[in-house]
Amino acid sequence: MKRVVIIGGGITGLSAALHLQDKARERGLAVDHVLLERDRRLGGKILTEKIDGYVLDAGPDCFVVEKPGVFELAERVGVSDRLLCTNESHKGTFVLSGGRLHQLPEGLMLMVPTRILPFLASPLISWPGKLRMALDLVLPPRRDTGDESLESFVVRRLGREALDKIAEPLVSGIHGAADPAEMSVLASFPRFIKMEQEHGSLIRAMLAARKGNPIRPERPDGYGSKAPLPGAAGAPGASVERPRRTFFMSFTGGMGDLVEAALAHLDRGRIRSGVTATRLERTTTGYAIHVAGGEPISADAVIVAAPSKATARLVADLAPDIAARLAEIRLASTAVVSVAYRRADIPHPLRGFGFIVPGAERRKIMGVTYSSLKWNGRAPDDTTVLLRVFVGGARNLDLIRSGEAGILAAVRQELRSILGITAEPVLARVHPWLEAMHQYTLGHLDRVAAIEQGLSRYPGLFLAGGAYRGVGVGDCIRSGFNAAEQALAHVAAAATAGAG
Ligand SMILES: Cc1cc2nc3c(=O)[nH]c(=O)nc-3n(C[C@H](O)[C@H](O)[C@H](O)COP(=O)(O)OP(=O)(O)OC[C@H]3O[C@@H](n4cnc5c(N)ncnc54)[C@H](O)[C@@H]3O)c2cc1C
Repeated sequence: MKRVVIIGGGITGLSAALHLQDKARERGLAVDHVLLERDRRLGGKILTEKIDGYVLDAGPDCFVVEKPGVFELAERVGVSDRLLCTNESHKGTFVLSGGRLHQLPEGLMLMVPTRILPFLASPLISWPGKLRMALDLVLPPRRDTGDESLESFVVRRLGREALDKIAEPLVSGIHGAADPAEMSVLASFPRFIKMEQEHGSLIRAMLAARKGNPIRPERPDGYGSKAPLPGAAGAPGASVERPRRTFFMSFTGGMGDLVEAALAHLDRGRIRSGVTATRLERTTTGYAIHVAGGEPISADAVIVAAPSKATARLVADLAPDIAARLAEIRLASTAVVSVAYRRADIPHPLRGFGFIVPGAERRKIMGVTYSSLKWNGRAPDDTTVLLRVFVGGARNLDLIRSGEAGILAAVRQELRSILGITAEPVLARVHPWLEAMHQYTLGHLDRVAAIEQGLSRYPGLFLAGGAYRGVGVGDCIRSGFNAAEQALAHVAAAATAGAG
């Protein structure tokens, strides 16, 4: 019997375990696996708490439907019936500018205007700023195909105001306090580069995508895909009546539904939680995984599904070159604060799904989602409102490190200033995430290519997760499935070689 050890029980590791379990069984392979997780709790950054009828997502609160990984996993673990669309009656995103909330103009796809009238009518961008954005239609595409920062790309195509008021706050919300001056557009938004190269203009590319796409993105910060979304007319299996899809989706019981369903599907006897892997060592047949306070575990293949920093530590002795590259991947710290108030205590109309905060506003928060308005079932009833506040940014690092009381006080101060809320919250939970969000800075893809090349010298060792080619939950699931498939191929080949 061959054995694969998975290190890390976040969504990547759980997806890898699930794939190994199902595919080994389906293919009749004699492959066993063990999953090691440092914490007692499984799920990693996916953490849903249910308190007094509130559903709080302390980590990710949704996924982007464009990435099919979540649908695939949901289907495999039987939780598709719990998929949840955003509440479209509240659709809309606002931006804090000059201390006031302005709606992102309708038809804005990520940062690119695709509808003229709402864009012209919006007070968010000044007239010179609007004219500068329109220059995208005539500016020639960049010839150099090397990496470029998000800041350089957006300023070059759409101008500084589009970066400061739209792109930077939107992207910070997704990538966690990312600095556009350092962020690699090639690694984070390869589609933008493709759009520029193929259409010569982002606006023209978006208009073409809208025309060819039967499904419109449901949020102004979304952007369309030419491929029909799963369940859309024309998609495989579309003859079956499927639930409606929105650009961002979640589960009725929060993102934790996915973890719970995966755990219910997995053989729990193969999961060891509360076990920290400390070091990997090469053996004649594969690897030995050293664990804190226990005997080493031998494996024919290893999938490391831990964050990059932990992975660097694990492979430091075995592969110092890979460890050095891993250590270059930067991690940002943020905090998610969930606060609920009586509706009557909020003097603000709370339009849309919430608002984002550009760095130029010099606030302590990066954005607020009106969770119980955006998603049904997040608060016990409509007499209270659950807000999710995202705290972060390089400027606020000390605040994030200062502890829960300081973070909550800062959040309440900002909510007072922006939404006029002075009342005590009926519920408040603070979740700091220190060095938790992988940053794809300039040169990221070269770094990942070097890591992958380095791995070719370590047959049977696979790295998976959000550090490499996509930070979203859907990317992580795909990465877990892929690593498991590679591990299966590796042990199958080793078994054949052994038999021969
Ligand atoms: C605040 C926040 C909000 C986010 N929002 C979204 C969102 O809305 N949508 C979205 O798609 N994505 C979002 N993300 C990103 C997404 O949550 C992550 O990329 C994804 O969950 C990472 O999963 P993972 O399994 O790769 O890593 P993790 O969840 O980090 O899991 C890795 C696991 O490895 C374990 N581990 C580490 N070292 C060891 C060791 N030595 N031995 C054993 N175990 C070890 C850890 O304890 C952990 O459980 C968000 C992330 C954060 C932090």
